[in-house]
Amino acid sequence: MTEIAITDHSDACMDFLTKKFNVSRNTFRYSIRKWKNVHNNVNLLFWVEADILNEDWDICTTIQWQESEFINLSAHKDVSWANIKSIDKAYKNAIEKHHKIIKCICHPCSIPNYWQEVDIEALIELANQYDIPLEINWSYLYKWATNIEKLHTVIQKANKLYINSDSHSLFWLKEYRKWVIKFLEENEYI
Ligand SMILES: [Zn+2]
Repeated sequence: MTEIAITDHSDACMDFLTKKFNVSRNTFRYSIRKWKNVHNNVNLLFWVEADILNEDWDICTTIQWQESEFINLSAHKDVSWANIKSIDKAYKNAIEKHHKIIKCICHPCSIPNYWQEVDIEALIELANQYDIPLEINWSYLYKWATNIEKLHTVIQKANKLYINSDSHSLFWLKEYRKWVIKFLEENEYI
C-alpha cells in the first residue's frame, strides 16, 4: 500500500454516543491527533464516516469540526431518527447533493441504517447511477444484525461493492473476516 484512509465517526454520531453513555468524548478514542502514521511511509488520509441528519441534503462530514475531503456515507438510526420520516428521501437528497465526495455507502442492510424501512432497490439504483460502491459489512453480519434478503439484493444488483470489516479492533478484523468469507462461499458468490 502507498496510502490508507481511516474513517472514524462524525461529530453528530459522537455527540449522540457521549450523551447516551454519559461519558467523555475521549472514551470513544476521539481525537484527530491520531491521524498520523508513526510506523512507516504509508500516507494516512483523514476521512469521515459521515451521518445523514435529515431529509434535506444535510449530512455531518466533520470530526472535531474538521472537514474531510472524502467520506463514507452512513445513516445511524439513533443519530438521525428524530428528524427523518422517510429514509429513502434522505438517502436520495444526500447522495444527489454530495455524490462527488462519497466513496462508499456503509452497512446499507444493517440495523443502524433503518434496515427494515429502506427501499434497498432504490438505494442500489442511486448508487449505481453515481458510481458509488455499497458495503458488505462483516461486523453486522457477524452480529446477526443484517437483513440477509436485502444483502443478497445488494450483492446481485450493485455495480460496485466493498467487502469491509467495520473493525474497531484487530480482533474484529481477524474474526469477522471468517464469517463474511463463509457467507460468500456458502452462497456461491466466491
Ligand atoms: Zn456505521
